[in-house]
Amino acid sequence: MDGAIGPDQGGCHGGRETMQQAARAAGKSVVLDQLMADYPRGPHDQPQSMCPAFGSLRVGLRMRRTATILCGSACCVYGLTFTSHFYGAKRTVGYVPFNSETLVRGQIYEDIRDAVFEAAKPDNCDAVVVINLCVPTASGVPLDRLPKIIVGVRIIGIDVPGFGVPTHAEAKDVLAAAMLRFAREEALQGPVARPTNLIADRPTVSLIGELFPVDPVGVGQLLEPMGLALAPSIPGREWRDLYGALGCAVAAAVHPFYTGAVREFRAAGRPVVGSAPVGLEGTAAWLEAIGAAAGVTPSAIDAAKARALPAIRAALQANPIDARITISGYEGSELLVARLLIEAGADVPYVGTALPRTEWSEADRAWLQARGVHVQYRASLEQDMAAMADVRPDLAVGTTPLVQKAKAMGIPALYFTNMVSARPLFGPAGAGALAAIVAAQTRGRERFSRMVSFFEGVGTGDTAGYGWTEIPRAPAPKLAKAAAKASDLPAEAMGS
Ligand code: SF4
Repeated sequence: MDGAIGPDQGGCHGGRETMQQAARAAGKSVVLDQLMADYPRGPHDQPQSMCPAFGSLRVGLRMRRTATILCGSACCVYGLTFTSHFYGAKRTVGYVPFNSETLVRGQIYEDIRDAVFEAAKPDNCDAVVVINLCVPTASGVPLDRLPKIIVGVRIIGIDVPGFGVPTHAEAKDVLAAAMLRFAREEALQGPVARPTNLIADRPTVSLIGELFPVDPVGVGQLLEPMGLALAPSIPGREWRDLYGALGCAVAAAVHPFYTGAVREFRAAGRPVVGSAPVGLEGTAAWLEAIGAAAGVTPSAIDAAKARALPAIRAALQANPIDARITISGYEGSELLVARLLIEAGADVPYVGTALPRTEWSEADRAWLQARGVHVQYRASLEQDMAAMADVRPDLAVGTTPLVQKAKAMGIPALYFTNMVSARPLFGPAGAGALAAIVAAQTRGRERFSRMVSFFEGVGTGDTAGYGWTEIPRAPAPKLAKAAAKASDLPAEAMGS
């Protein structure tokens, strides 16, 4: 592998340009161009978030009968496996280690190939996923040369470098899309395994995005009056789900960053609808769009709205929110959460998302901006913090470092992931779910102010840490010190 990068070179700290040049020189231009097209950057380079590959790893680990193998530097693999087990993965993560010699000689590819053959046991697996991290991608390790199938087990090799995929959310799409493409090509070639719980008597809708488990159930109830049912969601939980999802009448991109997955649905001839059934207006618009895309009659769409909207209106009225809130996150549902909070009565002046602007969140962006909300795509931590400092909200919802900063400023704050991943967001259930947590958090405002004044001056800046009561003085540079010493000597000692 010409121009291979050493295992201790590059990485998050090694410089994006260097890694990209190395990857292109090693034959990965097609992969990088596709990643750049699917996951555009800007206004700044890359939001601060965890290692992007975590998204792909998580999707693989959550699928039944799927083995996942990482190839990357040991420190990256340590972090990724630690995080995946922290988040409850109960599965072994395979690892193909390498060193400078195996990388430069190309032995690493042989090692990956051996590992894939060892893992591809049809009794245990439908698929083996191999994920190239930064260094193997930059070195051109050619996963596309692996066998496509071994004794009936599919082999999915993907490059998920931090210098090509901006967020872990988009890395979920990299694997979801690769699996959908594989399944679609299988379906084109002949009969495939029957999806579990196949719904054959009604057209179905496949939801794209990782959702709180109650949400698909609620969405299924919203669809019922239109004679529609739910197909398996993407990312799927087992290989057969992919066929069931591709067999839908409409795909719903409720998380708007699954560009690769949407491409596969479109290639299968499925229309794709954006936004989501969130709040009163969002649900009404979504039901209309889904119904139209599925060819449902206007009266059936009206019936679905007549069933859902009064319940949502009642839930919003019963759970009013009277607070100024800023939203920041990297889940992809930030705009949807903001819509729901505003309909419940909240004042939301700022929404920052680490994800890019896509056509599937356009309706949400337009709705929010029409209400004076500043929507920041590819938001950086600095932008989120500046908005919070400017707005001084009653509650800041955001990422871990933002929440930390908010608490230091005496602003009640809530980790976005805790807010959205532990409660429903859609339909009537979602409409009532956010109010309680907002109320509980904003009640604590006075307590936060007391804490800030109690700890005033402790543990901040140069005096951070136990026992530092004085500002540490920086040591003088060595040369200056030496010169100072020399000038302190009496003239006779200098020999003059
Ligand atoms: S694989 Fe992840 S942790 Fe490792 S260098 Fe790349 S971005 Fe950083």
